[in-house]
Amino acid sequence: MTQFSFSLNATDGKARQGVIQMPRGEIRTPAFMPVGTAATVKAMLPESVAATGADILLGNTYHLMLRPTAERIERLGGLHKFMNWYKPILTDSGGFQVMSLSSLRKMSEEGVTFKSHIDGSKHHLSPERSMEIQRMLGSDIVMCFDECTPFPAEEKVSLESMRMSMRWAERSRAAFGDRPGYALFGIQQGSIFSEQRAESAEKLKEIGFDGYAIGGLAVGEGQATMFDVLDYAPDMLPADKPRYLMGVGKPDDIVGAVARGIDMMDCVLPSRSGRTGQVFTRHGVVNIKNARHQDDPRPLDEECTCPACSNYSRAYLHHVFRAQEMISGMLLTWHNLHYYQELMQGMRDAIQENRFDAFQKTFFSQRTEGDIEPL
Ligand SMILES: [Zn+2]
Repeated sequence: MTQFSFSLNATDGKARQGVIQMPRGEIRTPAFMPVGTAATVKAMLPESVAATGADILLGNTYHLMLRPTAERIERLGGLHKFMNWYKPILTDSGGFQVMSLSSLRKMSEEGVTFKSHIDGSKHHLSPERSMEIQRMLGSDIVMCFDECTPFPAEEKVSLESMRMSMRWAERSRAAFGDRPGYALFGIQQGSIFSEQRAESAEKLKEIGFDGYAIGGLAVGEGQATMFDVLDYAPDMLPADKPRYLMGVGKPDDIVGAVARGIDMMDCVLPSRSGRTGQVFTRHGVVNIKNARHQDDPRPLDEECTCPACSNYSRAYLHHVFRAQEMISGMLLTWHNLHYYQELMQGMRDAIQENRFDAFQKTFFSQRTEGDIEPL
């Protein structure tokens, strides 16, 4: 039986190209993970998500534990069967969304008690409970339960938060136990403080994980500050294990993160933007609701091979968006996910061929050119 393994095929500067092997399939890195919050990537069939080139999806523990509940999903055969996605799934620990979505939270060393944002019912999460839920879901890559330190945080507040997350990381490791074929990732915290990031990395390495995430970024600090942290934080983590930057990001965030040694990322942006008419292309962001598209027979991007670009005009995509037809979200989400996966493939090829600098130059110059001229 295939266990969890990670191997690097090539490096170019700090950028890395590799592959994670797992029983449910391989994950080519750098990898972008579409977000399937409530056991669905909104507006997409799972086979369509796979067709865009995604090797792995992210599921949200917080949402699934509240509805339909982890117990129900387990009874129905696990999350893969439930949502008809048989490639690997990574689940977050629930901690981040408890903080951002629930009300009446009570946090202690033991864990956090909160009220559901759906019906006000009372729930509890702790390292042990989070590991139990992620096991019931059947998640292939399980994340440690941690506290995502809010930004900005005073140095002392961040230190206390990070140290509690490290104690929770130890408890997560113990509760996860020995599960061949499944992986547990630790999460580095420490906000924007390099000494705290270093202490966190040392503690995580001492505990020992299958992969290491960088948490506490993409929480409002801005790209420049995030890149400042990414200039050193990935180097503190083991080079022979995957490094996952949580919740990132826009296409230029992703390219910048890969350039700094990140292997995995996830973000709701391509799917969420697809439903609000925001389209990511080689030439930057296109707003399909803009009136300039209403008579435009050209595709969004003539080089894109996704169904939205192959078979439909800007005029049609503009029309169905304005008419609030469901196909609008379907086509634009497909295009955005396709664009993100093409970007990842482009980076994987460039790193393998030792031309990642040139890739970045082309990426940024095409974006600077902007969208094609209106007709
Ligand atoms: Zn397209």
